[in-house]
Amino acid sequence: MKIALLSRNRRLYSSNRIIEAAEARGHEIVVIDVLRAYMNIASHKPTIHYRGKVLEDFDCVIPRIGASVTHYGTAVLRQFEMMGVTPLNESVAVTRSRDKLRSLQLLSRKGIGMPLTGYASKPDDIKDVIKMVGGAPLVVKLLQGTQGIGVVLAETQKAAESVIEGFMGVKADILIQEFIKEAGGADIRCFVIDGKVVAAMKRQGAPGEFRSNLHRGGASSLIRITPEERSTAARAAKIMGLTVAGVDLLRSNHGPVVMEVNSSPGLEGIEGATGKDIAGMMIAFLEKSKPGQTSTRGAG
Ligand code: ADP
Ligand code: MG
Repeated sequence: MKIALLSRNRRLYSSNRIIEAAEARGHEIVVIDVLRAYMNIASHKPTIHYRGKVLEDFDCVIPRIGASVTHYGTAVLRQFEMMGVTPLNESVAVTRSRDKLRSLQLLSRKGIGMPLTGYASKPDDIKDVIKMVGGAPLVVKLLQGTQGIGVVLAETQKAAESVIEGFMGVKADILIQEFIKEAGGADIRCFVIDGKVVAAMKRQGAPGEFRSNLHRGGASSLIRITPEERSTAARAAKIMGLTVAGVDLLRSNHGPVVMEVNSSPGLEGIEGATGKDIAGMMIAFLEKSKPGQTSTRGAG
């Protein structure tokens, strides 16, 4: 196969491993910096150009699109889809996953467990929104945040009110969420490929830190997940339409709750914690996929 890897940096652990795995399995893989790709949106013959050349004959495309380039990156991915190239994750699903509110709405529609979550744009009814999610302590989240930045724990009613007012005052889009204290600063990352959890790890926040992000000093370790956690993660990925997903769960008193579904989950933590060849599994999935296989071809 000839594979396009949409990545801004081939030296990142994940990109590097995907290249290694593809080559080890006998495929040609070309790294494409999405911001350097440009498109001709021509009727019936969409093309993608890169450094003066037309990109041709690709069988598959693996998107590793950073949060800061979601809009442009998914446009390039969509262009590949319209050319009949099989994506590992399709553009529509990547776009959905980048909006925490939209993701939670899609998951709630299918009855997936999640922390009680409120969304409001005006400060007028803050007290009622706080009550709706069960009162303080609660978590306030920037809709566009990643890597734990923009996730704040408000311990008291007063703190909650002023943090929410503050964010709204600068017109930031925020979610207001029940704090799952019993998770103890840990979450579970389930790595899903093609509807199955292929690996799982526990991430524990640094001492005194409720956020378990590895970027915030969290540590990863191996964990056995329950059948309920396994099926929740697999279902969440399916609802989002993601073939490859990192589904983050919290262990709450009311069962596993999904916090977010990541469409470009990192490989370093999960391969390190489990010793599994996740990159190889991603390529193996593409080997058995049919040409031009997407459910939407970029529409919707
Ligand atoms: P990001 O996209 O920035 O990673 P998350 O929603 O994943 O944002 O939150 C970052 C971390 O904060 C999570 O990994 C988790 O450890 C903690 N966290 C987030 N929401 C909650 C919550 N409702 N209750 C308890 N901990 C939470
Ligand atoms: Mg997260």
